[in-house]
Parts: sequence; structure tokens; C-alpha cells
Amino acid sequence: MPEKLTPTPRILMGPGPSDVHPEVLKAMSSPLMGHLDPEFVQLMDTVKAMVQDTFLTKNPLTFVVSGPGSAGMETCLVNLLEPGDDCIICINGVFGGRMADIAGRCGAKVHKVNTEWGKVTEPSQLKKALDECPHPKLVALVHAETSTGALQPMEEISEMVHDAGALLMVDGVTSYCGVPLKVDEWNIDAVYSGSQKCLSAPPGLSPVSFSAKAVKALENRKSKVQSWFLDLSLVKNYWSGAKRAYHHTAPVSAIFALYESLRLVLDEGLEKRWARHHEVHQYLASQLEPMGFRFLVEEKYRLPNLNTMFLPGGYDEAKIRNALLNQYNIEVGGGLGDFAGKLWRIGIMGESCTHNHVNMLAGALKELMK
Ligand SMILES: *Cc1c(COP(=O)(O)O)cnc(C)c1O
Repeated sequence: MPEKLTPTPRILMGPGPSDVHPEVLKAMSSPLMGHLDPEFVQLMDTVKAMVQDTFLTKNPLTFVVSGPGSAGMETCLVNLLEPGDDCIICINGVFGGRMADIAGRCGAKVHKVNTEWGKVTEPSQLKKALDECPHPKLVALVHAETSTGALQPMEEISEMVHDAGALLMVDGVTSYCGVPLKVDEWNIDAVYSGSQKCLSAPPGLSPVSFSAKAVKALENRKSKVQSWFLDLSLVKNYWSGAKRAYHHTAPVSAIFALYESLRLVLDEGLEKRWARHHEVHQYLASQLEPMGFRFLVEEKYRLPNLNTMFLPGGYDEAKIRNALLNQYNIEVGGGLGDFAGKLWRIGIMGESCTHNHVNMLAGALKELMK
């Protein structure tokens, strides 16, 4: 017989998932309910309103994809791109690369703007891309690159994209509910996020929002969306309140958890939550820099909730990272791509964003690096 499930409680300080509030865990263990139960339909309406409030948008087409952040990414791209469409994808880490891969699979002509990992895309780079491809249908960027810890400034880029008549698509997976992400103010046409980063809900759901302009692009498609499951012309009817039509079975328990985590975010207040992430980031720097850790990213582009830091010289990063997990139950992330074996990705997201978390990490490191 397999043993009863007893996962070891961990302190999650990697690139996600992050720690989850006890009330969110409790919500997940509530009795199940039918996904077409009027009470659940009402709950989905409330979730939609809470997603609008946290994305700072009034977009009517705002909903939650039943799938992780990558499913949100794929939802935006498969609905907005058709074979032959030109798009510009800005790549400065893993997730920009993933967007380009998906856009290519949609049959779009992908124009890549490549930037060194750890840096952000400069407006001048986008200008050059727009000189070569003046009328793209869509320009996509990652707001918070979790593979590098860089935070992309959006406002100037947004203006350039709209001046070119293109749709602006943004990956807000790691920025959502951790740093300012202002969907309406920044004129973002398509945005997706994930539940397990600064929202501090379990992984597996992806909040998404489309502007009126993006909805028009969807309505004007010449071809059917190649994915049935992610086709918004079908999915949107599932998120339309009492008129709701069966599409798939919503992950009921996960939506309960999402509801509770969104309620906690709104109860704290977005501005206070952003300030908390900024303040704990500074505290982390004050604890680790004197130990010899140094940041990859230039200070003004640093993502407070995901800290990419090189270890002081002479230490075997994998050995210490494994000891943190096995002896102290603390998870931090290793580096990706060129940074594998060279740096750590230390997440202080949502419930994992407290002085206590930083103290636990710094204390354990002081013992391990003696
Ligand atoms: C985590 C992440 C994703 C993918 O989310 P999954 O839930 O792992 O599919 C996409 N983009 C960014 C920036 C992320 O951090």
C-alpha cells in the first residue's frame, strides 16, 4: 500500500509557488459544489469582479483560464494571432522565448527583439523593430521576467505600440499583486497572470483580461482559433453570469482558493501590498549583500519580489541550495539558462514576503556558509 500523503511543510522562497495563507488552504477544502450551481455561478461573477479590481481594469472580457500561467499565455496568443500575422516579441529571458515559440506555432511571422538576460527592452530597440516591421498586429513583452528578476518599464513602450496601431500583450504573471500593474492606465490589450506567484494561491489558474480592441481583433478573425479549449469565443460564454453555458468543468476547489486569495489582496489593498514587497526586498538586500551576495539586475530595473543574486565566490550553489531545502525546509530557485549554477532566484512573493522569511533565510545561510 502507498503511504498516506504527508508532504513536508516548506518555506517557499523560490520563483513560485509561494506560501499560501491558511484561509486559502481552508477554502480549498470546502465541500465541492456543482460548477453550474447558481451559488457557484455567483461566486465566479465575484471572482471576475475581483480580477478586474486587481488588474485595475474595467474590461468586460476578464476571466480566469483553467490552467497555469502558460495556459494564459497561450490563450492570449492563439486568440489574437492568425497564420501570416506579423508580431513583435521582446525576449529578455525564458518567458519571452516561450511567447515566441507559441506565436510561431500559431503560424504568425515572429519578429524577435532580443535583449541580454537581466536587462530590459529599451524603447530604442522596439523603435528599430517597428522600422523593420511597421504594422505588426501585436507586440508582446514580459513585465516581470522571473528567469532574470528584471522589471520592464511599460508606459513609453505602450505608447509606441499603440502609435503603430498594434495590440499590446503583456505577461503579468509575476508582477500581478506584487508590483504596480495598471492594465487600463497603461493601455494593455491582453494580459495574463498566474495564481501561484504574488497572489499566493495554489498553482493552476491564470487570470486574463482583454481590452475592447483585443475583443474586436478576436471578432474579426478570418480563421477559427486552432485550440478548442482556449478559444475565447467559446470560453467567454462560460464567464457570462446567469447566461452561462457549459464549456468545461471549472476546477471548483481551485476557484474557492482563488476567491479567498483575491479577497485577502483586496483586504490588504494593492498599494500597501506593492509597498510591502518593496520594503521586504530592501530588507533582503540589507541582509544578504553584507554576506557577499550581489544582484544581477541594475537597481532601477530590479523586480522586488524575485531577486536574482550571485553567491559570494567559492561556494557551491547547488550544495547550499540543497542543504537549505533538506536541513531548513527553505526553497530558493536555481538559475536558468546561462545563469544555471551561477545565481539564485529568491522569491519574496505574497505570503512569502515577510521579514520573518528573510530572517529565516539569512539565519540558515549564516550557519551553512560559516
Ligand atoms: C511562472 C511564469 C509563467 C508560467 O506560469 P506557469 O504557471 O508555470 O505555467 C509565465 N511567465 C512568467 C513571467 C512566469 O513567472
